[in-house]
Amino acid sequence: MIFYIAGVIYGVVSGSGVLNRGLSVPYTYLFLFALAAIYLIYLFIKKRDPRYTIAVAVATNLVIQLSGGMTSPLLLGYLPLFLIVAFKDVPRDYWIVSVALIVIELSSGIVTRSLNILPLAFMFLTAFIIGYIFEVLRGKEVRISRALSRYEAVEQFFAPSAFESDRVRTAVGEIDRHKGIERPLLYFVKFLHHLFDAHTTAIFACSDNALVLVQGFSHSELFSRDCVIQAQTGLFRQVITDRKSLLIKEYMQNPDELGYYRGEVMIKSVIIAPIVLIDNVVGVLAIDRKSSSFEERDKALFDEAANTAGFMLAMLKLYEKAKYDVQHLSSIAELAEKLHKRLDLKEILSDTINAFKHFMPCDDISIASVDEVNNFGRVIVSTYVPENTTFSLNDGLVGFVARHRNSIIKDDLNKGNLVVFRRDVKTSNASFVGVPIQQDDELLGVVWLEDHQRRKFNDDDVRILNILSYQLSLAWQRAILYDKVKELSIRDGLTDLYNHRHFQEILEAQISEVNELVLILLDIDHFKKINDTYGHQAGDRVLKFLGRLISQVGIAARYGGEEFAVIMPKCSLKKAMDKAVRMKDQLLKSEVACDHAKIKFTVSMGIAHYPNDARTRVELIEKADRALYQAKEMGRDRIIIAQTLANQ
Ligand code: GH3
Ligand code: MG
Ligand code: MG
Repeated sequence: MIFYIAGVIYGVVSGSGVLNRGLSVPYTYLFLFALAAIYLIYLFIKKRDPRYTIAVAVATNLVIQLSGGMTSPLLLGYLPLFLIVAFKDVPRDYWIVSVALIVIELSSGIVTRSLNILPLAFMFLTAFIIGYIFEVLRGKEVRISRALSRYEAVEQFFAPSAFESDRVRTAVGEIDRHKGIERPLLYFVKFLHHLFDAHTTAIFACSDNALVLVQGFSHSELFSRDCVIQAQTGLFRQVITDRKSLLIKEYMQNPDELGYYRGEVMIKSVIIAPIVLIDNVVGVLAIDRKSSSFEERDKALFDEAANTAGFMLAMLKLYEKAKYDVQHLSSIAELAEKLHKRLDLKEILSDTINAFKHFMPCDDISIASVDEVNNFGRVIVSTYVPENTTFSLNDGLVGFVARHRNSIIKDDLNKGNLVVFRRDVKTSNASFVGVPIQQDDELLGVVWLEDHQRRKFNDDDVRILNILSYQLSLAWQRAILYDKVKELSIRDGLTDLYNHRHFQEILEAQISEVNELVLILLDIDHFKKINDTYGHQAGDRVLKFLGRLISQVGIAARYGGEEFAVIMPKCSLKKAMDKAVRMKDQLLKSEVACDHAKIKFTVSMGIAHYPNDARTRVELIEKADRALYQAKEMGRDRIIIAQTLANQ
């Protein structure tokens, strides 16, 4: 109603031309814009549909403009009419008012002998076009909302569990899957129809206070296939409240009361029976005849039919539940397939969370890894806990799951009774389910779900979560193995430093990341001699020793046989030089013990700076290599800086 009033006010103000009151034009527009802006803000806040208002505003405006402005005495006639419309939110009234206005204009024109056909025709046309658009828009809306309410009711009727119906309500497309389960019901209704030689047979589902047609069969063309009966009063209400069927042998009432015909159909007799399922009236079965009356024995038989309908619905519910489970399992299978293709643990777990959120309605899902030896857990992915949050396994429900390696469901969570991490629990009926992720005897982590209002978790959830957990453990193990293999592929087996290939990758990455870095290439002096004198194994020890030493000063790699490389990111040449000298001093003091011998050795080094000496990786290595070569040339056991070569 408020929309019509707003529309009328806007229409009157703009249509009458505020000019009449002596305001200048810009002020008039300013006033109108302000009015419109305030109104639009109001609509936005209230989330209201502005179409009716706009239609009324435009119509009022036009009418006033065409009828000669506010000064026209005719306004006294139709303005109240608009206000009347304001109290009735019905599109039909639009037509009534429009026609009334045109009649008023027409008759006043005739009476005063000043009939002006052109504006009148224009007014008529405008009213018609606006009305037409208006009807088309409304028609669409009504059709959609009817279809939705019908499917919603069907959904409630068959919903395998309360939470699923929440989910399905969104799109008509998704609800179409119920077609499968409506079929047996259609056969059932058809069967009753023939059995009772009925005119119409229909089965309705209870949905709040309304009865929504689920399946119907009728000889009448007026039978409304998408009817929704408001059952606050009348025969249907009586049946639902009494939980007893009703037989009317001579149906004298208005057929409108049945609610499922679109027009007048003369009915002779009716039976309406409640469908009771586990102490709840879930629907109503109705049947009518046109020529003969139903008898008491028909009613008894019909009661049986209503019982069967209840039983059928229970079966269908189970069927739906099984289908629901299958859907979940196939979703898990899909997820598992995806997991098998992934090798990075973080990616695997993020994928899991994203996929799981879709088929397992809950507020939050989280996965943590568990370190039993050190008695703590670490969140890897979660919809609300920050990554890498650690927690003691002695605390909370997640710790409990880890300690006992057992799944648990916990309802009625309050603050204090914690999951370890929680958002503020606003309701006391928050629910938790957690399942360990383990492989053989090894506990890898815990996956848990939380819901803060909508539902309690049950054994089915544990079952599904266990399947997920098993799939996760496989993927998890594979990810660990993959990490190990990856680590092996980048490391040198003898010294455990990065190998040549990975050194190249790191150097490339560092060059693009940092502003400056220093590269040192080292080569052991006369290494062959060490091998020859002390044996190959002793040589290996020397390599390992040097490996440990150089890894203390930067990112160290084994560049080749007895050649090494050290990358020092974000390091000036001077600092690098200091480190290199210190390393050399240390080497001077050290000896590698092998059997009875103590091996002493020296190294030569070539140092190059990025970006002073080179701009690319290849160039930088070349510069350092040349410096190293120079060090060897000059007698070994020394450090040469690439820059000094350039200056020579
Ligand atoms: P220079 O001072 O000119 O560097 O003389 P060098 O003997 O150190 O150099 P050269 O390149 O002639 O010899 C390197 C030797 O390193 C040859 C090879 O047998 C030995 N070598 C390469 N890899 C290994 C390894 O993994 N273990 C051992 N023990 N020796 C290795
Ligand atoms: Mg060499
Ligand atoms: Mg050497």
